[in-house]
Amino acid sequence: MSNNEQHGFGTKAIHAGQQPDPTTGAIMTPIYQTSTYVQESPGVHKGYAYARGKNPTRIALEQCLAALEGAKHGLCFASGMGAADSIIKLLRPGDEVICTDDLYGGSYRMFERVFAHFGIKFHYVNMQSAENIRPLINANTKMLWVETPTNPTMKIIDIAACAAIAKAHNILLVVDNTFASPYLQNPLALGADIVMHSATKYLGGHSDVVMGAIVTNDDKLHEQLAFLLNSCGANPGPMDSFLVLRGLKTLHVRMERHCSNGRAIAEFLRTHPKVDKVYWPGFTDHPNHEVAKKQMRDFGGMISFTLKGDSFEEASRVASAVKVFSLAESLGGVESLLGHPATMTHASIPKPERERAGITDSLIRLSVGIEDIDDLIADLKQALA
Ligand SMILES: *Cc1c(COP(=O)(O)O)cnc(C)c1O
Repeated sequence: MSNNEQHGFGTKAIHAGQQPDPTTGAIMTPIYQTSTYVQESPGVHKGYAYARGKNPTRIALEQCLAALEGAKHGLCFASGMGAADSIIKLLRPGDEVICTDDLYGGSYRMFERVFAHFGIKFHYVNMQSAENIRPLINANTKMLWVETPTNPTMKIIDIAACAAIAKAHNILLVVDNTFASPYLQNPLALGADIVMHSATKYLGGHSDVVMGAIVTNDDKLHEQLAFLLNSCGANPGPMDSFLVLRGLKTLHVRMERHCSNGRAIAEFLRTHPKVDKVYWPGFTDHPNHEVAKKQMRDFGGMISFTLKGDSFEEASRVASAVKVFSLAESLGGVESLLGHPATMTHASIPKPERERAGITDSLIRLSVGIEDIDDLIADLKQALA
């Protein structure tokens, strides 16, 4: 029953890729804490030879994730960056990549400070209009790298429109689906070739593990990525695989609450006298609200806002005054987090460039958790007072 494609998202989240343990009947997938597997005779084994290549706990997780993204294949990596690293290693020197301009900072750092030295060229463009991609395409363009919603100003990029451009030019479309999670958005169904995740965020969901994942429907891409995983060694451990597998079982329930709490907080902030802009794709006047409605199931729990007067000191005061929210990097866990991008996640970007991207001194980013909404709103009210 576990891999029945007819089943709904919640049933797959709990069962896909998993069977009761054949030796004991244990309902939970065992943590196969082993580095190697005994062979019957040289080269004759049960499909497992060495744990960098394959581990049964990891495989259960990979199959569950693939089911949730509507994918044929899944692979898990030691971190989101480990997954991104393997995707770029599909390329060759001279190849070019066109990326979302407000890319996750760690991806930008890896592209510019690691892979640029290996002769891969990265272009960055505002993809809120997918047409902006076309002028950058040349004979060397091999990949589009899309993130949506973007961090931290929640731009929405039309995945299907990007896929149409990618297909027309024989370019791979990669979508970093970390912010949406497979509950809100399934890019493969919209034409993406590869979807990556930082499983550290919503998939794990409990701020207790760092992991990455890649899913695809393409047999050849999967084979190349599995080769890179085994060859380069960014494989996650069995304990971490177990934690994410357990986290996935409540993904749909957690996401429902992230979304309803997110909506209530976005609406609260919008009417607060000290708040200037609120970035959340659920507002009908968000520039790409219609695209968000078309490609997402709901609008998520990520919200950013600025303060009237744009004072760094005032933002800093608010960030230190919260009591239920915690001031921390990362996102997607059950607990609500508050971040100040200008000094935290985006501190390495020069101020003029940062401000052009909307990351002004008073911008505050919230990862709305699944606590009681009244407590979260009361906390923001007292911090903003
Ligand atoms: C966190 C994050 C990553 C990197 O993932 P790690 O698990 O921290 O290596 C990549 N993309 C996005 C959008 C992220 O939020």
